[in-house]
Amino acid sequence: MEFWYTEEHTDDVRFSLRVKEHLFSGESEFQKLDILDTYEYGKLMTLDGLVMVTEKDEFVYHDMIVHISMAVNPNIKNVLVIGGGDGGTVRELMKYPNINHVDMVEIDKLVVDASRKYFPAVSCEVDNPKVTVLYEDGIKFIQGKEKVYDLILIDSTDPIGPGEGLFTTDFYNNCYKALTEDGILINQNETPVYEKFFEVGISSNKKLKKMFPIVHVYQANIPTYPGGYWLFNFASKKFHPIQDMKEAEWNQLGIKTKYYNTELHKGCFALPNYVKEKIENGAL
Ligand code: SAM
Repeated sequence: MEFWYTEEHTDDVRFSLRVKEHLFSGESEFQKLDILDTYEYGKLMTLDGLVMVTEKDEFVYHDMIVHISMAVNPNIKNVLVIGGGDGGTVRELMKYPNINHVDMVEIDKLVVDASRKYFPAVSCEVDNPKVTVLYEDGIKFIQGKEKVYDLILIDSTDPIGPGEGLFTTDFYNNCYKALTEDGILINQNETPVYEKFFEVGISSNKKLKKMFPIVHVYQANIPTYPGGYWLFNFASKKFHPIQDMKEAEWNQLGIKTKYYNTELHKGCFALPNYVKEKIENGAL
């Protein structure tokens, strides 16, 4: 009997993967977590039935949420990751000896525990002495913080359930205050392929432009995410993502990456017209 995992991307679009084995199923006060072993993408983790991370394509998302800002400001020392319970974002950050400390604020301990057990190659740096894992709500954690972090990475779920408040003006305002004078914020910004997701992305971009002087959108190809095409916001108090990029300095660091490189860095901000126009107009 064949067993397929299916995620509904829209009412008219479904994404299915053939499954070898359903390895784990658990529920926390926040969400339902499942680990499946699939033929094409290896092990994958779902939260409330939505793909979060797969062994085959996690490198794309984790490279692109970390290395863009690190190539713009290699002097980043203190980092805050909100969400990111699978550990992939922290893994990429720990490739930078210059980074002094990372706070990873993940609301759900179940995600970290499951990733430790089923995704050792992703969660391998969660116990690094430079990393503090806090099982807290990122929305509350950020309140009252002033000029603490050089970089904030919002590695969250979609704006449903515990992740909803991570796409609000209040939250972005608190992030702005928690950043140092040359602070950078990166958030995952959904896909432009389907309107219900793009609407969220356009609105999040518009809110960030209300407080950050420099906001640009970049893109990546993530096959298991809706539309296979994903966007990120680069929001910055001082640095421009291309004009201030330290290309030679980053390449001299000799950091191994599977997706990111400095040529791609320059290209990923060049958006197609249909995305560029709607982001600039701030409306679908
Ligand atoms: N890359 C994935 C994506 O784009 O869909 C996200 C991966 S990561 C697993 C997302 C994490 O955000 C989850 O572990 C979830 O528990 C966490 N999260 C959601 N809302 C949160 C909140 N308010 N504070 C802290 N963590 C939160």
